[in-house]
Amino acid sequence: MSYFTQLLEGGYEAVHLLSDSKSGLRAIVGMHNTRLGPGLGGTRALATYASEEEAVADALRLARGMTYKAALAGVPHGGGKAVIMLPRGSFDREKIFESFGRAVESLGGRYITTEDSGTSPDDMEHVRRHTKYVVGLKERSGDPSPVTAYGVARAMEATAKHVFGSPDLKGLRVTVLGVGHVGMYLVKELHQRGAKVWVSDINPASVQHAVTQYGVTAVDADALHRMEADIYAPCALGGAINDTTLSLLNVKAVCGAANNQLLTSRHGEQLARRGILYVPDYAANAGGLINVAQEWAGYDRDKAYARTSLIFDTIDTVLTRAKESGLRPEQVADRMVEERLAG
Ligand code: NAD
Repeated sequence: MSYFTQLLEGGYEAVHLLSDSKSGLRAIVGMHNTRLGPGLGGTRALATYASEEEAVADALRLARGMTYKAALAGVPHGGGKAVIMLPRGSFDREKIFESFGRAVESLGGRYITTEDSGTSPDDMEHVRRHTKYVVGLKERSGDPSPVTAYGVARAMEATAKHVFGSPDLKGLRVTVLGVGHVGMYLVKELHQRGAKVWVSDINPASVQHAVTQYGVTAVDADALHRMEADIYAPCALGGAINDTTLSLLNVKAVCGAANNQLLTSRHGEQLARRGILYVPDYAANAGGLINVAQEWAGYDRDKAYARTSLIFDTIDTVLTRAKESGLRPEQVADRMVEERLAG
């Protein structure tokens, strides 16, 4: 499909191709909808894109996701996301990120960057040498994971209110797949609220930490998926709800931190048919975005947490409207975003 067809069909504003022959930079910035404010979204840096077309498609898909996440969270930003196609051989990482900083600056503030998969706080330090349009910096808002986890816990409270009649998570059985940055902080939030927690992760050290620090029970992924529990929290990779896991799940609700939890929209339909309530991922995991948006506005940790706490209200509204309309929660959330963008 031609680039213009992709942009027009997907409602995109622009795709920027940014390059620098000295450093070898090849970056793509996808811009979806900036009606509510400048694009804000992370930079993904990978050496594994099979083609430029694949990298552009990834930047565009991710930018669209940011439009939806920001609009639903009430953050005054739009959808932007960057992808850097890292050279396959040896290269000077510092120079690549410095030239990326210059490229971001050249966009004049339409796009504000931050970390994402494959980029680190150190990379952002190199970016910031040449642009002011960067957030998630070490000595400012720092690691977004604790705030993201807090937001997911608030989303779970709203879920519990709808499914079990009370927002209290005490005694509820929660399964967590992936105890990395966000998953571990989520386990901490759940521990503080008195939930009973089971975890699984491919990294044994992380599992051990969760067991010793928070008294959770470790199980393998297959057992975790089959367990009878109240809420399942996918906190590892995307596509956690797929043909295999769908048939195993024995929970009342799915509410977690991972992006793109539903492998396809069909998996959302199937979850609903099985009577499992799905909390839209981009609604539950917006705390990290709220945190960096707060950094852009002037960082205040208390304000970032107070705004993230409102994820409870957002999920409450989404689930109430879903019940009233017969639509699935992810359809309701998308409609709420589209109303905000049109309004
Ligand atoms: P992370 O890499 O720190 O953690 C992921 C964890 O999942 C790791 O411990 C890893 O070992 C584990 N894992 C990977 N594959 C697995 C598998 N097949 N089975 C079990 N465990 C597996 O990443 P993170 O920052 O914690 O992010 C987790 C998810 O949340 C991602 O989907 C991310 O996009 C999303 N997210 C993160 C943030 C944030 O603030 N970090 C914000 C919004 C969304």
